[in-house]
This record gives sequence, C-alpha cells and structure tokens, in this order.
Amino acid sequence: MPTLVVYQNYVHGQYMPNGTGETFEVINPATGQVSYLVERADEAVQQAAINSAKSGFATWSKMTAIERSRILLKAASLLREHNDELAAGEVLDTGKPWQEASVVDVVTGADSIEFFAGLAPSIEGNQQQVGDDFYYTRREPLGICAGIGAWNYPLQIACWKAAPALACGNVMIFKPSEETPSGAMRLAEIFTLAGVPNGVFNVVQGDGRVGAWLTGHEDIAKISFTGEVTTGQKVMAAAAGSLKEVTMELGGKSPLIIFNDADIENAVSAAMLGNFYTQGEVCTNGTRVFVQKDIYPRFIKRLVERTEQNIICGDPMNTDTNFGALISKSHQQKVLDYIEIGKAQGATLLTGGKALQPENSPHGFFVAPTIFTGCTDQMTIAKEEIFGPVMSVLTFSDEEEVIRRANDSRLGLAAAVFTQDITRAHRVIHQLQAGICWINAFGASPAEMPVGGYKMSGIGRENGSETLKAYTQIKAVYVGMMPLESPF
Ligand code: NAD
Repeated sequence: MPTLVVYQNYVHGQYMPNGTGETFEVINPATGQVSYLVERADEAVQQAAINSAKSGFATWSKMTAIERSRILLKAASLLREHNDELAAGEVLDTGKPWQEASVVDVVTGADSIEFFAGLAPSIEGNQQQVGDDFYYTRREPLGICAGIGAWNYPLQIACWKAAPALACGNVMIFKPSEETPSGAMRLAEIFTLAGVPNGVFNVVQGDGRVGAWLTGHEDIAKISFTGEVTTGQKVMAAAAGSLKEVTMELGGKSPLIIFNDADIENAVSAAMLGNFYTQGEVCTNGTRVFVQKDIYPRFIKRLVERTEQNIICGDPMNTDTNFGALISKSHQQKVLDYIEIGKAQGATLLTGGKALQPENSPHGFFVAPTIFTGCTDQMTIAKEEIFGPVMSVLTFSDEEEVIRRANDSRLGLAAAVFTQDITRAHRVIHQLQAGICWINAFGASPAEMPVGGYKMSGIGRENGSETLKAYTQIKAVYVGMMPLESPF
C-alpha cells in the first residue's frame, strides 16, 4: 500500500509540524478509502498561530487599503488560475460532483475575495462639526478573527470568511472541518503566493477541540462560524467569556412555495436544485416544498420523471455525474434513519429512499434522491434539517395558510416563491421569516448579496457590503478647538 501523505498546519506562511505527531484521517466519501492524514494542531501549533497572527496583524493593518486590495485581487486571480486543481481537491474531500465544484466552489470563493478587495479602499469614517469642536470616526479592524468552517463548501466558506476579514485589515486563523481540511490549506498557499504577509491567514487543523480552543481564546476578537445550530450555540456561549463578536451561519429547513400559476418546469428545477444539488448538503435547501393544490398533480409528475431520468449518481470525478456521495458513512446512516422515520410517520415515499452503490463507485456513501409526499408539518422529516437528498412535499390551499405554515419553524435561513403574479411574489416574500430569499429563482448567491439567517439560522451576514461593518469597529475621536472648560 502506498504511504499516505501527511499534511501539517499552515502557520506564518509555511507548513509547521506539530510536536505530538497526532494525526487524523481524511476519508474520500466516494470510495470510503483514506485519502491522506492531517496533523492535529497541538498546543505548540496553537501558540505559534497566535504569535504569528499578532505579527501578521502588525504588518497587514498598517498597509494601505489599496495595497491590501491589490494583493487580494492577485489571490482571486490565482484561485481562478488553479480552478481545476482546487476543484478536484474539493471533490476528493466532499464527494460532490466535479460538474459542480469546477464551476461553483472555487469561482464563488474567488468572487467574494474580488468583491471585498474592491470595497477595501472605500472603507471610510465620517466627520461632524459640534459647535467649534468636531469629532471624526475611524473604521478600524478588530484584530485577530477566527473562522470555523463546515464541510459542504470548504474552500468557498474559507474564502467567504477570509475576504471581508482581510479586506478590512484583520488577520484570520481558520479551522476547516476535520472532514474536509484541504481547501483552506490551498487557500493559505495561494494567499502566500499572492503576497499576503505571513501570519495574516493561518490554518489550524483538528476537530471541535481545536474549534473550542479558538472560541475561548482571549486574543481572538471575533468568531465567524458555519455549522450546525447546536454547535453554534456552544461557540456563542464560549465566545461570551471574552465578549467576542460572532457571525453565525447555521442550519435551515427552508420553505419553497409554488403557486398554481408558477412555471412548472422552473418550479421543478427549483425543487430539484433545492434538494439534490451537492446531494442535498446545502444549508439553504428548500426542503419543505409547499405546492398549491391545483398545480400539484402536474408538478409531482414532472418532479418524479425528471428526478428518475436526469440524475446521474456515481464517481464524482466522472464528468457525467451530477449527484455525488454524502460526506461520511455516519452521515449517510443519519440520512437513511430520517427516511425510515418519514416512512414510519406515514409519509409516502415516491422515489429513492435507499443507499445506492453505483457501478463506478460502489463503496461510496450515496443515498438516492428521495421524494416524500403526503407530508404534514408535524412530521420529523418536515421539521428537522436532514442535510441530505430528502425532499418533503406538502400541499396548501391559499396564501395566508402557506405563509403561516412556512414561518412555523425555529429556523429561518432561506425561502423561495414561484408565481407569475408579481405583486403576490413580493407580498409573500416580505412576510416570510428568512434572510435569504428568492423569487422565481433558487440558490443564486452572488458575492454582492448579503446572506445569513433569521431566527435560529444565524446572526450577522456574509458577503455584500454590509459585512464590512462586521469586521470593523468604530473609533470616535473628539477634537477640542477651544480651551478646555473645567470646574476644577
Ligand atoms: P458542525 O457544527 O458539526 O461543525 C462545524 C465546525 O465546527 C467544524 O469545523 C467542527 O470541527 C467545529 N466544531 C465542532 N464542535 C465545536 C466546538 N465545540 N467549538 C468550536 N468549533 C466546533 O457542522 P457540519 O456538520 O460541519 O456542517 C453542517 C451544518 O452546517 C449544517 O447544519 C448546515 O446547515 C450548516 N451550514 C450552514 C451554512 C450557512 O451559511 N448558513 C453553510 C454551510 C453549512
């Protein structure tokens, strides 16, 4: 058997060995085989990452915004230049199809870096006269920020967190998911190649223990977290100890509402994208598909036809494959367990509902695209985030009813409405409790658009110019122009 590559942590512009020799395995979800090993960040690595980040901050925050912008633009262009190699790395780690990774994952990461690089020089304070005196404000960086990522879009998540942080003059210590550690390492290498000073973007590797170390560390000013609600709660509680700022990008159980007058093919496309893209492992998925009663028979017919005919499951690197493997054996089991719960609670399984063993990838963690009908709002599959290719279809009669039912969730990440009636589209969207909304569209998330959740789906936003505020703090400076009045 060939020896496995062992990756180290990325600190101060280079790979750094840990002292303990402790490693963890990274599994290829499409084969079930170990792809490579990664050294866990021990205390020596953690301390080095903090020291390095402090020195990186001293350099980076003193540079002009134009200089930072120029370097970040170079990084964005290097990401695009290395698109195919980076996308292949994402496929190996995540099991998602090459078809997607090669046109989405790296590209949308690069877009965000480009977007924030463009905004960096426009960060400004203001000035106001107060009698003879005046004050002015400065938007200053926060310092060392930590990014903690999930495993579904590893490189993109690292880019979306690093881009606004670095553009504002902060530095970042990033911890990717232990299931998908390579994207962040590659990004760190590219930043170094682009001229980002050492210490500005360090990558520490490991599981929740390394994450918990970051969230508790008093030298870290902010945590930007992407992951499950329950982990987010732990992170926020730990961050409270040193009053860190937090951004929370958490889970969803989003409604996709299809009215009688919707374009059927578009609506079916949305339901499939919103449940089967990245084999259902997308936080914004529209997993509660509410279909108005008149359109329901035609909608379901086309949905099942297209799902059974057009989905090609298999080796994710095969260019024909459009449906990949779930992240791990345990996650595959979790998704299959939800399917059993759906059946036991009385939902009707229309298609899928089982593990798959495609010929060209027989040992991968695949689950067939699954559609349940006859669902009720109370069923577990219609309430909990499954994070796999399991769609719950529900029917409704009128607008008021569907809005009430769509909002009856503690989560509020995304929502979508399909209708040809322009006033209804806006009226309904405005009443939905969700941060990321689409009208006659699904899944688009350009760098210009702020994204994040309502309710328990999150706090704060990523992308969009709004996010600059979350990575800067305001210093107000009062300037006295007259002799100081004092009773003493
Ligand atoms: P997870 O919560 O299990 O892990 C996320 C990260 O947190 C990992 O890096 C993990 O190592 C780390 N972690 C675990 N315990 C920790 C602790 N105590 N302190 C600090 N860090 C800790 O989530 P996951 O399974 O990797 O990702 C799937 C989830 O992410 C889904 O719920 C999905 O909806 C969500 N997600 C949300 C968005 C969004 O933008 N809203 C995007 C992608 C994924």
